[in-house]
Amino acid sequence: MKRASFSVAGAVLAAQLCVCAPAVDSTWLTTYERSGFLRTGRYDETVAYCKRLAGASPLAKFISFGVSARGRDLPLVILSQDRMFEPAQVRQKGKAVILIQSGIHAGEIDGKDASQKLMREIVITGSLRSLLDHAVLLFIPIFNVDGHERFGPYNRINQNGPVETGWRVTAQNLNLNRDYMKADTPEMRAFLTLFNRWLPDLYIDCHVTDGIDFQYDVTYTMELGPNIDPGVSAWTSGSFLPRTLHAVEASGHKVFTYVFPREDHDVAKGLTGGAAPPRFSSGYAALQNRPALLIETHMLKAYRTRVEATYHFLRGAIASVSADVGALTRVLAAADSGVVRRGRHADGESTFPLTFGLGPGSRMTEFLAIRSVKVKSELSGGERTVYTGEPDRVTIPFFDRTTIVDSVAVPFAYILPPEWEFAPQILKMHGLSVRRLTRPITLEVESYRFHNVRWQTRPFEGRHGASYTSVPVTESRTYPRGSVIVSLDQRGANVAVHLFEPESKDSFVAWGFFDAIFEQKEYAESYIMEKVGREMLERDSSLQAEFRQKVETDTVFAARPEARLNWLYLRSPWGDPWLSTYPVGRIVTSSAFLAAVDAAR
Ligand SMILES: [Zn+2]
Repeated sequence: MKRASFSVAGAVLAAQLCVCAPAVDSTWLTTYERSGFLRTGRYDETVAYCKRLAGASPLAKFISFGVSARGRDLPLVILSQDRMFEPAQVRQKGKAVILIQSGIHAGEIDGKDASQKLMREIVITGSLRSLLDHAVLLFIPIFNVDGHERFGPYNRINQNGPVETGWRVTAQNLNLNRDYMKADTPEMRAFLTLFNRWLPDLYIDCHVTDGIDFQYDVTYTMELGPNIDPGVSAWTSGSFLPRTLHAVEASGHKVFTYVFPREDHDVAKGLTGGAAPPRFSSGYAALQNRPALLIETHMLKAYRTRVEATYHFLRGAIASVSADVGALTRVLAAADSGVVRRGRHADGESTFPLTFGLGPGSRMTEFLAIRSVKVKSELSGGERTVYTGEPDRVTIPFFDRTTIVDSVAVPFAYILPPEWEFAPQILKMHGLSVRRLTRPITLEVESYRFHNVRWQTRPFEGRHGASYTSVPVTESRTYPRGSVIVSLDQRGANVAVHLFEPESKDSFVAWGFFDAIFEQKEYAESYIMEKVGREMLERDSSLQAEFRQKVETDTVFAARPEARLNWLYLRSPWGDPWLSTYPVGRIVTSSAFLAAVDAAR
């Protein structure tokens, strides 16, 4: 980790700035620039810089879009040539909205320094003012503000600078880039409200890699597979990426797709990439029919190289959208209305994918690697990768064929009883509207019963996620007054499908929101159940056969007297039919849907 003197006068350094930068009044230099491109500013400095920028230019507005777990404001800077800072005004002008987010992982802070420079050149020096001709820009300079202030030199062992930086996760030790769906953190709740209010046409999330060494300064990923609308995918691969990548390369930075080696540190075995689940930024935007660009600068490159690569990526992306805003907004409108149409005519035929895998197929790709050798390590007892530093141009297989593992027929609506109040609250943050029953209704729904329920033994993101087998059931249920109806003829319906369908790894039930339904609350005393159980088996020969088979085939069960009696208890009239039964119903017929809507009037 490099250390640097912080005492050089700004005016001197201003003259040493990158040749591509215009002359800058030294009072507008950032901590990054004044430190010889080695340091990054603290939260207070960053916020002060953003506020000063907004004070100096009528084209900029600073707001706080929420408050962190430790009470810090979440900063947002809006740049608008028309001095319009509300989404409805901006839409009327036909401008694109681009949201640029930095520091979701506050140790990976390149985007903040790139953004400060970019904002300055747009509204202060004016050298890049034209980037506002067709777009309104929203900058979140630091998303994980509490993590950012856990500042120090030892937060990112793999990363080459800045001298000190922030910490990956929030004050609650939660990773915001796993929180897009469940929204456990105050930071994410504020973000989702902001995102769904503005609905950016392009969302950019700035990171720094971990992983292997290679020649590229910067990598990127965008969703292009079956987890995003095909029109949005076609715009991304056909229009946006060629223009943007050309701009990045023209700035002198080598760029490649964000990849992982199939085997530890060994690119010769090939590379992989795949669809991001919606707990991640890019996967979440895909559910909202919005393209998201994940920028991942390479951790081993110097901080200045990384910040400059991010800066040119951001510039290129804004210019690329600006080249044809109409093409993008038409694609997004078509994707949104396609979702609404699907919900309106839910015919049981149109399915929506929930989980993805990687197919076996690959394509050969050229990759600018750094040569490495494997040698025996006395330290670990295993093999050790040693990078020689020599550039190596290799042609290797790239496994990036995303396949659909699970999908579901989309219903007209979901319905759930009012006691699960977290659900409508979170749905609202995701931009979804709900109806409430004004009187009880009995209707036929599809739902699930869960078997083989297990929980993770170690917490993940503060939760012990559940896994289970979900068995579909169709039954008549009565939902009380106040029950929540979530109809899927709304543009954000894909989010609701992922939150309510148990097979999605980001569903409420998978994250543990419904754990209480798996708790058995009444039990039979053994001397009572012995009598009832015998009578049940005498009366019902098929139950008797099922019980015998269970005893004969399941030795663990057979050896546990209380389990055998409880098995009978659960099948007796005293057993709890709600146990392990999903309270959420899928309304799959138009008659049931119309009845539910009528009961919500
Ligand atoms: Zn990251």
